Amino acid sequence: MDKIYYFDNNATSRVAPEVTEEMRPFFGELYGNPSSMHFFGGGVQGHLDLARERVAALLGASPEEIIFTSCGTESDSTALWSAARAFPDKKHIITTKVEHPAVMNVAKFLESQGWRVTQLPVDEHGRLDLNDLKTALTPDTALVSMMWANNETGVIFPVEEAARITRAKGVLFHTDAVQAAGKVPINLKDAKIDMLSISGHKLHAPKGIGAFYLKKGSRFMPFMMGGHQESGRRAGTENVPYIVGLGKAAELAAANLKKENTYVKGLRDRLETGLAAAIKNIRINGSGAERLPNTVNISFEYVEGESILIMLSEKGICASSGSACTSGSLEPSHVIRSMSVPHTFAQGSIRFSLSVYNTGEEVDFVLKEMPAIIERLRAISPFADGKPLFGIDACQTHNH
Ligand code: PLP
Repeated sequence: MDKIYYFDNNATSRVAPEVTEEMRPFFGELYGNPSSMHFFGGGVQGHLDLARERVAALLGASPEEIIFTSCGTESDSTALWSAARAFPDKKHIITTKVEHPAVMNVAKFLESQGWRVTQLPVDEHGRLDLNDLKTALTPDTALVSMMWANNETGVIFPVEEAARITRAKGVLFHTDAVQAAGKVPINLKDAKIDMLSISGHKLHAPKGIGAFYLKKGSRFMPFMMGGHQESGRRAGTENVPYIVGLGKAAELAAANLKKENTYVKGLRDRLETGLAAAIKNIRINGSGAERLPNTVNISFEYVEGESILIMLSEKGICASSGSACTSGSLEPSHVIRSMSVPHTFAQGSIRFSLSVYNTGEEVDFVLKEMPAIIERLRAISPFADGKPLFGIDACQTHNH
């Protein structure tokens, strides 16, 4: 493939060259253990401190509120397990119907262990009604976990307001900000958010590094126990090169926030309006809600998302759907289903997610290729006569 047209940044993003450069010495000469007493380890500790400050700055937090983890999934697990163990007398958790599996599957497991789990619904635009949260909170609630921005649609939840409502009832609030960090401003200083998750590989750091924000004074039980690293809140020798990389990526993300909302949003809007003008019978999922500047989720009526993705891939274009099936029978993702997208559209849902590395020329290439792809697929679709596209067989969802 001569050129890769990469529009799958919510799945993972390219490591910024500045990040690689910053990490390089820690694979070579700077191999000390930051916990060591000697000068060599101590020298490395200074770089960890800097990374913590940079991540804290991106989130409007204090450095001592940042705990490094191995990924967004670990950060999410940390939040849910902490709440479950810190409040042994409480047995209720509130999440939403559109959470990433990193939250949803932990909640499901807790449910199998006798917890009550409330999943707040969303409307057709993917929006929450915070009255549902108010109604759901009970004296038995240990935690509310609500994502900041949805990975499939980019829809942003009013987490600061939700956290205020939750705090007023004395309940802990966690937000999965894996897709929000670096794309929308986050300022935790005055927010009532107790815990927050981020992941390096969504913001141009490598895969396998994340961070967890724990508000000073919030009740907490560590997920990993052992040594005294991260002030006893996450044991295990620190992954120094990756932490340094995440720190650099956080610094770049903070500097690029404006670009995200001008340049990247401009490209996303050009893609979205271009597709809407060129192709009939499409829906922009979440367009009635506040959304991330980089994400567009589109449903094409009477076509199947997987087929579109395969044909785009043949042209070098990387996009994604919310679901991946093993058996040839497709079910729309839980996010699209929760938004009650009509059946004839739902299976044809795909996501383009952009970054600062995309260009206008790349967007124009997609705009040139896409109409013919949809036309070809609709021409061979046996379902365009209005029959349902697929049965509702169970299928494995695979969400990024
Ligand atoms: N939460 C959301 C919203 C995500 O999009 C993802 C990754 O796709 C995760 C959590 C998991 O992050 P990680 O891949 O770092 O485990």
